[in-house]
Amino acid sequence: EEAVHDPPAARGSHRGPQGQLALTGGRTDKLVVVLGDQLDPQSRAFDGFDARLDRVWMAEVAAESTHVPSHKARTALFLAAMRHFRDELRARGITVEYRQLGQHAAGTLGEALRADLERLRPGRVIMVQPGEHRVATDISAAVASAGPQLDLAPDDHFFITPGEFEAWARGRKELRLEYFYRWMRRRTGILMDGDEPAGGRWNFDAENRSSFGAAGPGWLPSPAAFAPDVVTREVIDAVARELPGNPGRLDAFDWPVTRAQALAALDDFVTHRLPLFGRWQDAMWRGEPWLYHSRIAAALNLKLLNPREVCDAAARAWRDGRAPLDAVEGFVRQILGWREYVRGIYWREMPSYLDRNALDADRPLPAFFWTGETDLACLRETIGQTLALGYAHHIQRLMVTGLFALLWGVRPREVHEWYLSMYVDAVEWVELPNTLGMSQYADDGLLASKPYVATGKYIARMSNYCAGCRYRPDRAHGGDACPYTTLYWDFLARHRERFARHPRLALQVRNLDRLPHGEREAIAARAAALRRALDAG
Ligand code: FAD
Ligand code: SF4
Repeated sequence: EEAVHDPPAARGSHRGPQGQLALTGGRTDKLVVVLGDQLDPQSRAFDGFDARLDRVWMAEVAAESTHVPSHKARTALFLAAMRHFRDELRARGITVEYRQLGQHAAGTLGEALRADLERLRPGRVIMVQPGEHRVATDISAAVASAGPQLDLAPDDHFFITPGEFEAWARGRKELRLEYFYRWMRRRTGILMDGDEPAGGRWNFDAENRSSFGAAGPGWLPSPAAFAPDVVTREVIDAVARELPGNPGRLDAFDWPVTRAQALAALDDFVTHRLPLFGRWQDAMWRGEPWLYHSRIAAALNLKLLNPREVCDAAARAWRDGRAPLDAVEGFVRQILGWREYVRGIYWREMPSYLDRNALDADRPLPAFFWTGETDLACLRETIGQTLALGYAHHIQRLMVTGLFALLWGVRPREVHEWYLSMYVDAVEWVELPNTLGMSQYADDGLLASKPYVATGKYIARMSNYCAGCRYRPDRAHGGDACPYTTLYWDFLARHRERFARHPRLALQVRNLDRLPHGEREAIAARAAALRRALDAG
């Protein structure tokens, strides 16, 4: 059954000796397809690559930026990294067939590839297993219709294959991150002393996740910034020209777009921010998007960095006494734990996962998600920052935008499309389980052990957003009630039956039941008024 989940190449079939490759009368022998999130010249698709016979194929197609309206910085990051990668390959003498945005007619990757397969007539097409179900289907169909054999190579930018995740998951009543993560620690030996976790504990959450308090974060180390070079500036101009209607801004673009820059970004993080990463992981502060976060998710997802080298760099910092264990464990957990876990869930559940809607949420996404124009200060700040940078950190995504969508009852598909559009690091295999599972509970608790619901008091505790807001986080009804607080109780009331016996939510439902009848009525009235006001625009 594992073969269902792993591409055939995972069993080694692509590793044929070079001598077996036949010359095909001057035509390309192998065509190595490289997608925008597969930018690693060491990838298994290049095994046995012969620059005299083989070629690389890459394409920028509008559909990848318009099937959901991709943030301009997200598209620019992908295209800038692709063009730098192309140039590096060419500098090594490799022939790269490269289709540039605006310079060819094909709308989708499949269409662009089909046209070129007819022209190039390669004997075989080889690529790393695509990270997105839709793209995998599109490319397989294009290659099948053009004739050559398609070999899929496993993606070495993960610690385990989807098949290995499946083997771990099979037969378990519940899939829980904590058990998966411990299994991964033992399996990889990362932060382990023999069979025991380094420092004697698996989890340092108790030390982590503080808030800044009234004093604020104080001095913050500025992360390494990468000014756009000529290639990136050309991309930025092309995106502004070709995709003028897409959301987001480009003026602050400073993301790493090459492997050398990505390594510099990792080193900068490990040296200057990792030591305090754990402690301030969940905190938010107005005007401070980066805080102690790493900013490396996009580089990881485009495969400019390998998760092994990232975890090793963090573990080394601890062993050398440059960062405390609570910070390093908190960081490794995100990559060795969450990142691998959500990918396993994605491939296990797709394609039907896209349509899950366990809570029957049926409201449209409020229009202000695309503009940031709202009087809820936390949402204004988080969405405004997202439009400016294509970035928000985990708690902004989960407990500001995600929480609002969950409490409001937005259709999960629309929430998913917004997150896939908006973040520079968004790729469906990681974005979808985080959005649909962790943040919207649309998979009925498959991924998260409970819905992440809270009142505005959580946001007040973890940030200074509420100080600049016309609402009061401690009020559940009345004209100045915080919409989160009202909608939190409204959510529990709407889903009372489902969660009354839920092991991790029953207590919150009991608190709802304890509210005086009059207060519950006032909350319901306030929730109805909020819905009327927002629906009326
Ligand atoms: P840091 O906070 O410094 O974390 C370190 C690294 O850990 C990240 O770079 C990332 O690779 C990994 N990581 C952290 N949390 C997660 C997680 N929950 N799942 C997987 N990997 C994680 N991450 C993406 O890479 N792409 C997405 O499209 C994406 N969409 C998200 C949508 C929602 C609704 C939520 C709640 C989270 C999403 N995340 C996504 C996870 C997380 O928010 C981002 O990885 C993180 O904010 C990226 O910023 P950073 O590199 O500074 O991360
Ligand atoms: Fe957000 Fe409510 Fe705080 Fe306003 S009061 S910033 S809406 S949590």
